[in-house]
Amino acid sequence: MEKILEVKDLHVTFKTYGGEVQAVRGVNFDLKKGETLAIVGESGCGKSVTSNSIMRLIPTPPGRIANGSIVYKGRDLTTVNEKEMRKIRGVDISMIFQDPMTALNPTLTIGDQLTEGLKQHKDISGREAKKKALEMMDLVGIPSPEERLKQYPHQFSGGMRQRVVIAMALICDPDLLIADEPTTALDVTIQAQILELFGKIQERTGVSIILITHDLGVVAKIADRIAVMYAGKIIEVGTKREIFYESQHPYTKGLLNSVPRLDIEEDDLIPIDGTPPDLFSPPQGCPFTARCPFAMEVCDKVYPDSASCSNTHEVDCWLQDRRAQLVSPMAGTKK
Ligand code: SF4
Repeated sequence: MEKILEVKDLHVTFKTYGGEVQAVRGVNFDLKKGETLAIVGESGCGKSVTSNSIMRLIPTPPGRIANGSIVYKGRDLTTVNEKEMRKIRGVDISMIFQDPMTALNPTLTIGDQLTEGLKQHKDISGREAKKKALEMMDLVGIPSPEERLKQYPHQFSGGMRQRVVIAMALICDPDLLIADEPTTALDVTIQAQILELFGKIQERTGVSIILITHDLGVVAKIADRIAVMYAGKIIEVGTKREIFYESQHPYTKGLLNSVPRLDIEEDDLIPIDGTPPDLFSPPQGCPFTARCPFAMEVCDKVYPDSASCSNTHEVDCWLQDRRAQLVSPMAGTKK
């Protein structure tokens, strides 16, 4: 399948009075056409900084993309000027934020807000823009769209507002949609409806989706692949099945053990003890060493290379490496 995005060795830093925070430290991943990649991790692990870097929404200063490339359809977005980037945002790449209320202007009707992007980016008449807005309202499941277009955000429920925000993000037919915690502000029932909606939209439009979340339940519903981030790095990436049933990294296993699951029997949830490292001066070795029950001498000294468990599954952990060394001379295969 065609790759539409390739992020290579991305480093993002923020200057503060206390020093420089290394928020993203050498992130690599790609995204294929029509695929949903979920980036998962605790708060502060760098997942939102990664997605904001793709949109070039990192406030500079204090932030900056210190190294690496973000290649979208053959173009490195780190080298594109702001004027060109404005054309890319909303048309080629769209973003949905956590809180729909902050994304909507309370003083404008939903119709004006939906058609604003279209009129700005595409050569389109008012009539055509309205037709497209009605189509989008229908796609995201807003009933009585003609009437609703004339209403203001406060006349919509939280779930309906998020549907409007999704319609706004899709109205210019982007190829890539970045959704940053899109269901966190919603209650569980509405959350399920919105996640179902993402699946339906992807089927109908073929849009690629990057989903940023801390919630593994959300991921289980709609992701094709999952990248797990910790302390500014992707420490494991694989298909949904590989991450949920064959995870190799102790941090991924810890994350899975700390959330309730209906597909396995378990007595207690096991929290991950300790806290993530200080990213003002991150450790040179594996950043999970201080919390890891399997840590070895090498772990805090040298960062492990990525080990492949399959064509789609990679993990950064010395344990994996050692296991591979033990198994391969005998069996010639890696477990
Ligand atoms: Fe644990 Fe070492 Fe693997 Fe890090 S590299 S997760 S400390 S075993």
